[in-house]
Amino acid sequence: MKKKMKEQEIYKFSKEYAKKAGFALNKNKKQLSYVIKGLKKNEDKYGFRFCPCRIVTGNFEEDRIIVCPCIYHKQEIKDQGHCLCNLFFDKDYEKKFGAVKTKELESWVNKSLAAKAKKDNASFVLDRFEAQRPQCFFGYSGICCKNCNMGPCRITPRAATGVCGATADVIAARNLLRTISAGACCHVEHARENALTLLKVGEGKTKAYSVKDKEKLNQIEKKLGKKSKNLNETAVNVALEAFEDFRRQHGVFHRSEGSYLNWLKINAPNYLQELWKKIDILPENADIETTRSMHATTMGNDTDPRSLLLQCLKLGLVDGYAGLRMATDMQDILFGTPHLIKAEANLGTLKTDFVNIAMHGHIPLLSEKILEWSKKLEKEALKQGAKGINIVGVCCTGNELTERHGIALTAHTVQSELVLVTGAVEAMIVDAQCIYPSLAAVASCYHTKLITTMIAKMPGALHIPFKIEDADKIAEKIVKIAIDNFKNRNKAKVLIPKEKTELYSGFSVEQIIEALGKLNKKEPLNPLVDNIKSGNIKGIVAIIGCRNPKLRGKKFAETLIKELLKENILVVTTGCIAHASAQEGLMKPEAVKYCGNKLKAVLEAIGKANDLPSLPPVLHMGSCVDNSRIINLVSEISNYTKIPISKLPIAASAPELVTEKAVSIGTNALAHGIAVHINPPLWIAGAPWVTKVLTKDLEKITGGKVLNGESPKEAAKAIIEHIENKRKELKI
Ligand code: SF4
Ligand code: SF4
Ligand code: SF4
Repeated sequence: MKKKMKEQEIYKFSKEYAKKAGFALNKNKKQLSYVIKGLKKNEDKYGFRFCPCRIVTGNFEEDRIIVCPCIYHKQEIKDQGHCLCNLFFDKDYEKKFGAVKTKELESWVNKSLAAKAKKDNASFVLDRFEAQRPQCFFGYSGICCKNCNMGPCRITPRAATGVCGATADVIAARNLLRTISAGACCHVEHARENALTLLKVGEGKTKAYSVKDKEKLNQIEKKLGKKSKNLNETAVNVALEAFEDFRRQHGVFHRSEGSYLNWLKINAPNYLQELWKKIDILPENADIETTRSMHATTMGNDTDPRSLLLQCLKLGLVDGYAGLRMATDMQDILFGTPHLIKAEANLGTLKTDFVNIAMHGHIPLLSEKILEWSKKLEKEALKQGAKGINIVGVCCTGNELTERHGIALTAHTVQSELVLVTGAVEAMIVDAQCIYPSLAAVASCYHTKLITTMIAKMPGALHIPFKIEDADKIAEKIVKIAIDNFKNRNKAKVLIPKEKTELYSGFSVEQIIEALGKLNKKEPLNPLVDNIKSGNIKGIVAIIGCRNPKLRGKKFAETLIKELLKENILVVTTGCIAHASAQEGLMKPEAVKYCGNKLKAVLEAIGKANDLPSLPPVLHMGSCVDNSRIINLVSEISNYTKIPISKLPIAASAPELVTEKAVSIGTNALAHGIAVHINPPLWIAGAPWVTKVLTKDLEKITGGKVLNGESPKEAAKAIIEHIENKRKELKI
């Protein structure tokens, strides 16, 4: 009988094999010993060192290919840098497979706070990311499925389909559709909360909110073809028309409800509505389309990748209109349409002697009220020995508060834990989306009260349910909790970094048109279009979305933006990339120094007409739902020039994409005919047909396509090439 090896001997054998084959052993000692133990266990159990990460059938003829080193390891190392179990690695793994290929990139991580987090035992996202590395190759490639219990299945050299027969393309397309549906659901819920608030305002059921932008409300009612006797009736009418977009069912309700989303019908350019009708992607209602997508992607339903990708585009439109656009419209009506406003960004906006309240999340219903109550309760804070109350914004709640009130844009999502690590925050209130589950544990290292509300819930946090009618009572209670907590602050544990930057915010489409109107009152878009035609502005690019810890603290987005500005490309931004841009100082007039001379001259001319030394070269257009403002802007340009969006010299980029929401936002842009750069790449690489359609063929249908680029330079090259091609096609 074959002599069994000891763990140490298996280690030695593996090490020698790695050396002979030109590989390296896993450098992470813990992971390495885990795999060795697994091999030893299998040897003890079966008599052979079968791969501990694969299923042993018990039939040696079948299992022989998975005796370590298994039949797959060479291909896996070639494709993903390591074998499935992470035992053997490519010798140059870091160089070839590290997420960041440009070593020269700077880091945004505040080193003293990161060190403090370690000292205080507070967990930090970048450390948790390191513990997850290397991440799963099958997941990256989009070719794993666990939609039924015959799985989980993975496409491997040995298995071209899942147990049910689903191919790589079916699996990747289904996964993508689920991702987009999840993203759209977040924005649809966001819009619905706002629409419900408007309804209650109109019905007189709440005094906590009111209509701030009457003009916008009236315009929307007019576009919907309605007429009312007074403002309250208008609010009710508009809200009810919004609700149609969540419930329209053909042949069920008595009144005629049209056949597709009201918000799409009144906002999208007509030629696009025609195209979307032709390819059958006009959504019926938001809820039914997400339900249908979940139905279609369960085992044994829609297994036609073409049909699945069309449904992806349809969900992109759900996101764009029943989510983003509706949410923005409702928020502008309830809280005011943003206009030019100055603010500050970065962690240095926290104040030492103040009660600091951090608002984190997305839906501004509660943050608006907390801001109001922080002013009303200022004296209470003084009584506690504080100099006042300092409200700061994190993530997209930050963007909402900044664009309307000039509140500090303190931290993007990846910095949210560092806000707490300062030890200077009395309360952090989190409502929905992008709230790390780690926050309660981090808050427990300090005196901070973590308060969850709306959909956010977390063990260890105080949950205060939100009710529109009780918004004042809830906001008052939360501000009082924060004030009361000021006395518990441990001054020895406070570290507020110095970094803060000035920024200009409030670039709604209305504000952009107003600013341009100073140059041409009759045709405000004319100066912008003329400068695009002449090449003074080579193009416009939206750099949007999340900041990704996979980039390990490096400034991918900022580097990409600077590359584009150099080429005379104007940048607009939203979301967490807006935080990043502001922190880099790209949203202030002085940042024109990064622009090519032609763009610089245009921005200075517009700036001077608006009493600024220059317009910032990166325009802050708001939160993630405010990506609707970007679609609105390009639709306005398209209407004005009579040139389809797909032919304009424009593009979008989510250079550090994280969330499902960012994928649905990107899909909305693709449906509108916009080329979208995505990094880290979408999870479709293992599905050749899906990859081909999204990166190539789609351009012939909607005009949109996915651009790749895994370093800022590669991304800039792909985007600039796209814009130059569009200019050539337009002969400008
Ligand atoms: S489900 Fe997919 S991504 Fe997750 S571990 Fe399994 S194969 Fe990897
Ligand atoms: S649906 Fe098909 S591919 Fe997915 S887990 Fe089930 S059997 Fe496997
Ligand atoms: S940009 Fe991404 S991380 Fe930031 S708020 Fe939006 S979805 Fe969340």
